[in-house]
Amino acid sequence: MPSTWNHTFNTSVFKGSVEVPTGLFINGKFVEGSTQKTIDVINPSTGKLITKISEGTAADVDSAVKAAQHAFETVYGLNMRGSDRGALLNKLATLVQTNIDAIASVEALDNGKTFFWAKSDVQSVIDCFRYYAGWADKIQGKTIETSEAQLVYTRHEPIGVVGQIIPWNFPILMLAWKLGPALATGNTVVLKPSEFTPLSALFVAKLIQEAGFPAGVVNIVNGYGNVVGQTIAEHMDIEKIAFTGSTLVGRKIMEAAAKSNLKNVTLELGGKSPNVIFDDCNLDDAVKWAAFGIYYNHGQTCCAGSRIFVHEKIYDEFLHRFTEYTRNVKVGDPFDPDNFQGPQVSEVQYERIMGYIKTGQEEGATLHHGGERVGTEGYFIQPTIFTDVQPHMRIVREEIFGPVGVVIKFSDEDDILRQANDTVYGLAAAVFTRDLVKAVRTANRLKAGTVWVNCVNHLHAAVPFGGYKQSGIGRELGEYALANYTHVKAVQVNVEMQM
Ligand code: NAD
Repeated sequence: MPSTWNHTFNTSVFKGSVEVPTGLFINGKFVEGSTQKTIDVINPSTGKLITKISEGTAADVDSAVKAAQHAFETVYGLNMRGSDRGALLNKLATLVQTNIDAIASVEALDNGKTFFWAKSDVQSVIDCFRYYAGWADKIQGKTIETSEAQLVYTRHEPIGVVGQIIPWNFPILMLAWKLGPALATGNTVVLKPSEFTPLSALFVAKLIQEAGFPAGVVNIVNGYGNVVGQTIAEHMDIEKIAFTGSTLVGRKIMEAAAKSNLKNVTLELGGKSPNVIFDDCNLDDAVKWAAFGIYYNHGQTCCAGSRIFVHEKIYDEFLHRFTEYTRNVKVGDPFDPDNFQGPQVSEVQYERIMGYIKTGQEEGATLHHGGERVGTEGYFIQPTIFTDVQPHMRIVREEIFGPVGVVIKFSDEDDILRQANDTVYGLAAAVFTRDLVKAVRTANRLKAGTVWVNCVNHLHAAVPFGGYKQSGIGRELGEYALANYTHVKAVQVNVEMQM
């Protein structure tokens, strides 16, 4: 297998050559997997092979954990000053900035998201690294008053080797959300990208090397979930695991952690987020935001506003305008700046979404718009709207993870809160109204980790993100994420040395 993939992009938005290593990144070097097997990386716009990358095994995870342990005990963790960790993260942010177009191109090719939105993701990566670089020398405990004879203080210490498993929908952004707080607080990392979208993480691994992170601080082991992912979750020397992905796999991670060393677990899982549109909203804006809520990233967004609830007084008008707007959402080549939506990430995902569209029709919902494949190659799907749905239908209850929204009527505030909260998920919600009191009252009663008012999908490195109910455990981003990666140690000094 060639040790690098070289590609020359000649698109309307980026022209240039990109070189991406294809090995596993262990102990500061790119190496082949122990079995020398490979994984095919497929272009979702064509269904054709892009390149092959090394497939990791349990033995490779072991090597990565050993390297991470050694780095933690010798050069990172308590051995490096916070300000130096911050400087490394800032250096990495600068290198990502320098390569922003190249990384966005790799992401658009591998994942299928448009270059425009891939670049927006990479900008968020830079912001995230800079945000956590700022925290690195501000990881502080407290002094606690107990008595004059005692000096009591807490230290927030890094945990050690942490495992991180990320999905394919925001490959590079999820990597930054995971690495940022872990590295700022002094942990060392074994990270597994999704087998569907490994390339941008490998590009960044090169930049991690260039930034000067000591060998073993970050290790990236590509491979399949049931092998590399499962080994990370079960590993006795990994003290903490952070996972983003499906609720199904989240359960497996918890089980594996419980059956091994009771490692600390944080989970960011699925969603079926309600988007609540009151009759006093600005309708034009609400239509645009609702479309952005469900079609952004081709609906492959954990916080996608996939259940669109509209007040009965404006339902018909909303549906008319929303349908017109949807008709004009352009689907096609991710490198064509006119397109908003590219292909779904993989054939499996394409089939899954088309399966849900069929199920919705079989269950008796009205396929109001879309529902068809676009083109003859790749995994493109029309933005799709269902109406006349019932609460028990699978398209209302289950996460489709595609550009498929259901539009539902509601009558008053009690009705909407009952319907919106009628889900096993609780990741995000949105409310559209001009009445601030109503907005806050509704936001307070929605069971979701994030509530947007008059917007959707706004994320910021400083703002915590995570789920209620089966959408997850713990919060990523912001100051809150630092707690995921630190132990609190209480030190009690008996100053007077008296019994
Ligand atoms: P997935 O759960 O299938 O895979 C996620 C990751 O877990 C991949 O790297 C995969 O290889 C790995 N994995 C699979 N089986 C495993 C196992 N047995 N043990 C350990 N690791 C395993 O999810 P996906 O299809 O890649 O991503 C889509 C899902 O992720 C959606 O449900 C979406 O809502 C969720 N998601 C949530 C958030 C959030 O922040 N809450 C963000 C992005 C995606």
